[in-house]
Amino acid sequence: MTHSPAPFAVPFQDLPLQIRNLRAELDPAIATVLGHGQFILGPEVATFEAVWAQFCGTAHAVGVGSGTDALQLILRALNIGAGDEVITAANSFIATAEAISYAGARPVLVDCRREDYLIDPAAVAAAITPRTRAIMPVHLYGQPANLPVLATLARKHGLALIEDAAQAHGATLKDGLRCGSVGVAAGFSFYPGKNLGAFGDGGAVTTSDATLTRRLRLLRNWGSVVKYHHEIQGYNSRLDTLQAAILAVKLRHLADWNEQRRSAAGWYRAALAGCPGLELPFESSWTDRHVYHLFVVRILEHDRDAIAKELAAHGVQTVVHYPVPIHQQRAYAELGYTAGAFPNAERAARTVLSLPMFPEITPAQVDHVARALRAALATSVR
Ligand SMILES: *Cc1c(COP(=O)(O)O)cnc(C)c1O
Repeated sequence: MTHSPAPFAVPFQDLPLQIRNLRAELDPAIATVLGHGQFILGPEVATFEAVWAQFCGTAHAVGVGSGTDALQLILRALNIGAGDEVITAANSFIATAEAISYAGARPVLVDCRREDYLIDPAAVAAAITPRTRAIMPVHLYGQPANLPVLATLARKHGLALIEDAAQAHGATLKDGLRCGSVGVAAGFSFYPGKNLGAFGDGGAVTTSDATLTRRLRLLRNWGSVVKYHHEIQGYNSRLDTLQAAILAVKLRHLADWNEQRRSAAGWYRAALAGCPGLELPFESSWTDRHVYHLFVVRILEHDRDAIAKELAAHGVQTVVHYPVPIHQQRAYAELGYTAGAFPNAERAARTVLSLPMFPEITPAQVDHVARALRAALATSVR
């Protein structure tokens, strides 16, 4: 998608455009790292961790190799593993469940709410057993999960609340709460396509717990703070110095980019208002700032895949997040869930469609998408 001329009038994302716009800022930051050569845990990592923690409203941030590792290492740092259960959403990217599996614990999946696709706190409450150690909500598509209710639930049952914030950089809730700062810890991904993306894999944990921070710093680096002295058995999962330098440059623009995404969401809402057969994203009552990592519509009556094909024929690139819920993935057959276990997640998998969304999208591009979608819904067979 990035190396050949875009066949799409409106691509799903346009990272090359963003990078072109930032080259003058990025090049010197990269040159500095190439100059000093400290590619592993160089000074840019600690610098980025400090500004990322500040951005998220936590005391600490720990840079790690990916968002998946951020979640896994949080679980390990909390000694959650074999014999333990962690409750999470059936309708997430598979990494959420795999992070739990990597730690040796069992992912216990629950359904989402119909209207906002976010984990249903009532379903979470019903899934708690004596083995449950943690709740891992996902701020799906850039909108916060219901953290006030989930935090109360976690406190009541003595569970760790761990946020999967991989899609929610900068998202906020009412009452001044910020994604990444409400749970005991949160995992962020800097996968290139995320709202804050590196030029490769990267991730971070945010937390205000000093003990947890120390354990995470050990775990990510072979159990070592002093070279060749290993306090525990750890992992090789550090945020690269080069990626940290790039992220520090990009972070200066994140707040503006999130506002641009929110503007684009407003343009879509205006252009698609009242469109028959279409459901627009729902902003939940506790949400203050949805950061629209994705703009996900629901195709109500038509065949979703036929609509996506029709859009592609008109130069509009779309993606489905996600076509198969975790409990119906072959990789998770071992969990023993059957079809129909999570009706809202299953319906979402059949009907959701993510429209092009990136900070640089123009009103004309949004208009093109809206016209193509209206036309497809008006003509396509059901
Ligand atoms: C991207 C993502 C992850 C994994 O992050 P990586 O950096 O790709 O490992 C985890 N959870 C969710 C919801 C994601 O979107």
